[in-house]
Amino acid sequence: MSKTTTRSWSTTVFSSKVIAYYHSKGRKNLPWHNTKDPYRIWLSEIMLQQTQVKTVIPYYQKFLTAFPAVLDLANADLDQVLHLWSGLGYYSRARNLHKAAQMIRDEFSGQFPKNQAELETLPGIGRSTAGAIAAFAFDLPTAILDGNVKRVLARCFAIEGWYGQSKVLNQLWDLSEKLTPKHQTAAYNQAMMDLGAIVCKRSNPLCLECPLLKNCLAYQSDRVQELPHKKPKKARPSKSVYWLIYLNNQQILLEKRPPTGIWGGLWSLPEIPQDQYQLTDEQQLEPILHKFSHYDLNITPLLIQKTMQKKPNISIMESELTAWYSLDETIPVGLPTPVSKLLPKLIEQD
Ligand code: SF4
Repeated sequence: MSKTTTRSWSTTVFSSKVIAYYHSKGRKNLPWHNTKDPYRIWLSEIMLQQTQVKTVIPYYQKFLTAFPAVLDLANADLDQVLHLWSGLGYYSRARNLHKAAQMIRDEFSGQFPKNQAELETLPGIGRSTAGAIAAFAFDLPTAILDGNVKRVLARCFAIEGWYGQSKVLNQLWDLSEKLTPKHQTAAYNQAMMDLGAIVCKRSNPLCLECPLLKNCLAYQSDRVQELPHKKPKKARPSKSVYWLIYLNNQQILLEKRPPTGIWGGLWSLPEIPQDQYQLTDEQQLEPILHKFSHYDLNITPLLIQKTMQKKPNISIMESELTAWYSLDETIPVGLPTPVSKLLPKLIEQD
């Protein structure tokens, strides 16, 4: 067994506590436990990806009734496989299962590969799934790193950063490799999964029931809620425009927007992108932030009535796309909300 020390932990202490948890409280009686059949273990690992245990159980049983062995799955029609998967979601999992079963039939003489590297050549089997199959079915000392294990390690060792980044992921894999014991690997891996699912839950983890509490860096530094770090939010895209306010005698010039796109067909203030316009002495009014579902529109209204040369009449069409409207009366066309809110404020400006 490794004698490495990883910050606050000796790896042997860590793995002994995890294995002790398996023997006292680990889950041992789910339908995919108590078997060494790699096909059954593989099926459960794939079905459990992004899916809860209670949802998986009936599908797992139905699937095994239809395809009791890997060759039954390989010889089945993909339509039948997908039919049995219906409702479980992420259908690429079912297609990959079927394809991998056919590879096992055709390239591995119907025998499940028995080592991690070969397992990883099968469609849909990544490093962690291969590690789990190798440990559970073949008693190999292979490490795993599914979502539950990542969370436990990120908290216990206060790993900084989001684990979608390869630097953070590599750090977690290094830790997992170092901590995974050479003996009782299956018990250790099962217990790490259970700890993540039952104790070190994403929200409201049950730290006081956790065998790792004493040395858990997140717990000791009161950072359990903060770790693991979430995916950084991308800055929302934004666009900045000027709205040109041509005012004269309580009348305002509006412009019809193109029929498609934002506010398609509504009447709005003439708009120009801010990066295409040099401000001179126009009067800027209070900026408006309008949030669309997918971006923010920063609007700076510019009052430019002084540039007006003529005195327009009510609702005179300047063209098909522009018209003057009186601010004193209800404007009988569709207006974007920020325009409706802005117009009453303009009465005092004229
Ligand atoms: S002490 Fe809390 S945060 Fe730390 S591993 Fe245990 S459950 Fe997770």
